[in-house]
Parts: sequence; C-alpha cells; structure tokens
Amino acid sequence: MQSDIDIARAATLKPIAQIGEHLSIPAEQLIPFGHDKAKLSQDCMDALADRPNGKLILVTAISPTPAGEGKTTTTVGLGDALNAIGKKASVCIREASLGPCFGVKGGAAGGGMAQVVPMEEMNLHFTGDFHAVTAAHNLLAAMVDNHIYWGNDLDIDVRRIKWRRVVDLNDRSLRQITTGLGGVANGFPSESGFDITVASEVMAILCLAENHKDLQRRLGDIIVGYRRDRTPVSCRDIGADGAMTVLLKQAILPNLVQTLENNPAFVHGGPFANIAHGCNSVLSTKAALKLSDYVVTEAGFGADLGAEKFFNIKCRKAGVAPDAAVIVATIRALKMNGGVAKADLGTPDEDAVLAGCANLGRHIENVKKFDVPVVVAINHFTSDTVEETAVVQRYVESMGCKAILCTHWADGSKGAVALAEAVVAMTEQEKPQFKLLYRDSMSFVTKIEIVAKEIYGAKGVLINQKIRQQLEQWEAEGYGELPVCMAKTQYSFSTDPTLLGAPSDFDVPVREVRLSAGAGFIVVICGEIMTMPGLPRKPAALSIHLNEKGDIEGLF
Ligand code: ADP
Ligand code: MG
Repeated sequence: MQSDIDIARAATLKPIAQIGEHLSIPAEQLIPFGHDKAKLSQDCMDALADRPNGKLILVTAISPTPAGEGKTTTTVGLGDALNAIGKKASVCIREASLGPCFGVKGGAAGGGMAQVVPMEEMNLHFTGDFHAVTAAHNLLAAMVDNHIYWGNDLDIDVRRIKWRRVVDLNDRSLRQITTGLGGVANGFPSESGFDITVASEVMAILCLAENHKDLQRRLGDIIVGYRRDRTPVSCRDIGADGAMTVLLKQAILPNLVQTLENNPAFVHGGPFANIAHGCNSVLSTKAALKLSDYVVTEAGFGADLGAEKFFNIKCRKAGVAPDAAVIVATIRALKMNGGVAKADLGTPDEDAVLAGCANLGRHIENVKKFDVPVVVAINHFTSDTVEETAVVQRYVESMGCKAILCTHWADGSKGAVALAEAVVAMTEQEKPQFKLLYRDSMSFVTKIEIVAKEIYGAKGVLINQKIRQQLEQWEAEGYGELPVCMAKTQYSFSTDPTLLGAPSDFDVPVREVRLSAGAGFIVVICGEIMTMPGLPRKPAALSIHLNEKGDIEGLF
C-alpha cells in the first residue's frame, strides 16, 4: 500500500466548481481558493435557509488507543460509499492543526483510499481559517494589555487576566510567560502564556456561531479577566468584538473540497475535543444538511467524549438531531482495551478481543441512551484474522446491534458499501425521538453527575466546596442554562488513562471549572489537561522537506 501522501497526490481532482455543481451550488455562490478549494459565500448560505434537511450520521469510536481507530477514514469511506449506492452524500470534518502535523505524524484528512484532498493544503495553511482565529484571539490579548497601559479605566486586576495568547504550533516553552517586561514603555508586567490555536475559545465560538451577528455576540461575551472587585470584564467591555468579527468574516464561511472519489467534503473549524466540544462548525454541518440527503460527520476521541459532547452541546445548541451513529472499532484497539501491549498486537488473540469488547459494549449502550440508532464499523487492518472479526460480530449481535466489516482504507467506497446500506436502512425506519441526557434547567452539579454516571459508569463525582461555590455563583449570575463540556483523558472511561476496557467502581474528581461564556458552556476539567502540547524527541518536522521537484516529502 502506498503512503497517504502518494495516494493523495496521484488523485485526479475535479475543479471545485464541478463539486459545487453536483450540490446544485451556482458557481457565483462559491468563493474559490485556487482550483480545488472554495468557501460557500454568504449568498449561498442565505439561499439555503428554507430547504429541508438531509439525514445526519455521526461517526464516533471506542476509547482510542495508540493503535489508531480511523474515525476520519471511516467518515470519508462511508460518505463515498453512500454516494456509490446512489445517495447524495457529503462529509463534514475538522480542519487540521499545524501542531500535530509537525509533532507526531498523523494527518486530519483520513487515510489510504478514504481521504479528503488536496490533503497537503488541508494539513497546512488551507484557506487561512486558523490564522484568522489566531489573529482575532491575539488582537483581544493586545487590546486588554493596551487598555491597562493607557490608564486601566475598567480597573482590571492584572493578576486576574484570564485571556492568554495562542499560536498554532506545539511549543511547550510558551506555556507560562511574563509579558510587559523591559520598562515603563512596555506596559505592566503580568503572567500569561500561550495555548495552541485549536484550544482558543474563539475557535469554539467560530464552530458554534450561527451567523456573523451571533459570532459578534459570542465574541463580546468572552470573559477576559476580573476587576479588583472580582466582577468580570468581557471582550465587549474592551471593545474588541467588532474588529475580531471583521478578522473572522471569511473564516466563518464553510470550506468545500472533495474526497479521492470526487464527492463533496466540508472541512471547517477544529475545536479541541477536551476543553471544547471537538467537532466541525455548526454552519458547515447545517449547510451540508441543506445541500445533501446524507451528511456524515465525525466527533473527536471516543464516544464517551466526542459523541456525548456532539449530542449534548452541538446538537442541543444548533437544534439538529442525529439520525444514526456509527461506532468505529478496530481489532487492534479492542485487543489493547483487552490488555494486550502495543508491541504484541500482531499476534492473533480472540480472548483479548472478547475482553476488549466490554469497552465497545459500553459505548453502544451509551449511544442508545440518546435514542440514536447505532451500528458498529470494524475498520479492517491487514493483520486482523477472520476469527477475531467473528468474535466482535457475535458480541455486537448479542447486544442487539450489527457489526460490519469495512475495508474502505484499502478499497475506497467498495469497502464500505455494506456499512452504507446498513446506515440507510437504519435511517429509513421511523426516526426515534432524539433524547438529550440532561435538561438546561438542571444544576451544573447534576449535569456533571449525569454524564459521569450514565456515560463514564462512575460511582460518583468528587467536587470540593470551592468548586461548588464557583458553580453556584455562575448559576446566580445567569449562566446556569449552559451545558457542561467535560475534559478528561480520552483513553479511559475513568480519569485514569491506564484503566482500559470498561472500568467501574471509580469516582470522577473535578479539578477545575472554567466559564467559556462566549462559546456557551462551562468546561469541567477532570484530570490533567494540556492546552499547549510539546514536540516529541523526534518531531515529524525533522523529515518534512521539499524534494528536487518541489514536492512536499515526509508529511504522512
Ligand atoms: P481518527 O480520526 O480516529 O483519529 P484517522 O482516520 O485519522 O483516525 O486514522 C489515523 C491513521 O490511521 C491514519 O494515518 C490512517 O491512514 C490510518 N488508518 C486508518 N484506518 C486504517 C486501516 N484500516 N489500515 C491501516 N491504517 C489505517
Ligand atoms: Mg479524526
């Protein structure tokens, strides 16, 4: 099998106007970025308003392991397969961050014969959206410091500035910094730091905003810090919301590209899956639903984090309901969840696969709690045996569900036709009433307990007095209706990344809570959360270069 980049480079791309035409978008409603990328114009978005929605399919997964699961690959494969069986389908995925591209190898465009192209551009600067988010975020930081420099009329406590800076790279030495050093002309020294751009609240806002007006309102609601009397100072108080909206004017418009099989792919936004909700933009999902009969989209990490937040945050806020969910499982990841070390994954081991199925089983039960019909996709790796696959299929059948062997990574759409047919069959039954797990009106503590107990399988949650008071204060200030954005390790249902499988008899300790008033959720941090990754000892950047012909080498 060729490398992902070789496959992508050999693809025959159609001009982007043709992809738009397939979706009945008039050429003048596309804003082309070169030959193979375009944004949907505001006119295009406006023209869609009254159209009916297609069906929304969520691709999620079992608890991730370093063995890899292939959610994006399966999202693309399923989208292509739906088109192959005659449905008008689009995929909706996130844009790539430069951090992982140059850090640990791994792109965001899928893999093998199920990829989105042009993958090099998608994994690098693409249409500039992330740079716009970076600029908008840092403009606010500069304006906060500038406000203090020119007299601090708002009486901001420089020790309580919460708004940091962002850059779209992995750079651990920027995690904690001091700004304003060097004397009177440079302002007042204060502690700050950098997060990676995808962890910016501006990114989460871009992905949840419904239009430019809503974007500006949400940006204005961002809390940048506190006054000496502890009252919050917002971005609106600083006066940055208008200029930030201008910087994001074009970034908020969905990007259209294509798959290797020339089917439409919307690639837009990319919020972190821990301190944010981890899915592509509401605007692109909604546009895709208006333009296609089927929309296949992905949520980050395993279903305990990705699907839970997709349902409880994105669907709740955007007013959309999923028609079906696909849980991606691999024999390799099931084996790891069953206790096998990464180095031994090549050895067939049906017992370990069965042991690991406990993890899959809990994810299936969890998705059913939302009343979303679910099917399992076994993303086939060449090392998997027929017997191991049969173990999974029997287990899933015993849960009243189907597991379908998929070979789209090697075979493209052909390899996911059975999955596509199963998805269509599920969505043609009467649509069940999609059920959110908690109501807006419940207290924050109740919301956290419901997710921890119902989804993680925890005994209870541990929340100290100080955090409880903070939550009550936000409720008193009128934020109580917001959903909770849970941030915990993706490797385990618990907060201990080494507890694989389906652990029970554990508590979920809440370490910290943060208010993302602009994005519209509170972040509940359970365990260590990294918002600025570091580079590994041998970063992918070491092998990335241009060859003699001027082509990029080493990018996956
Ligand atoms: P996720 O979205 O779950 O993080 P991706 O779809 O991005 O996972 O896949 C991660 C990596 O695994 C990609 O480099 C992809 O090429 C590879 N991969 C996915 N499926 C397979 C498979 N069936 N066989 C071999 N490699 C695969
Ligand atoms: Mg992915």
